[in-house]
Amino acid sequence: MTLPPCPICKRDAAPNAADSPFPFCSPRCRMADLGSWLDGSYRIAGTRTVDDDEELLESLMAAASEDGSS
Ligand SMILES: [Zn+2]
Repeated sequence: MTLPPCPICKRDAAPNAADSPFPFCSPRCRMADLGSWLDGSYRIAGTRTVDDDEELLESLMAAASEDGSS
């Protein structure tokens, strides 16, 4: 069975280690990934919730439909 490589450095991860930071090859890569999260490369749950996005989308849709109806 082939395991996916470390998503950060693309080296083979070592999931056999007891304290493996799987799917990362090392704690350093895990921290690098966390850093990219904090950087805003990814959406961070908690700073902006999905509910907020849905509300925003709904208000935009409502505004758009009102616009077109009259
Ligand atoms: Zn790595």
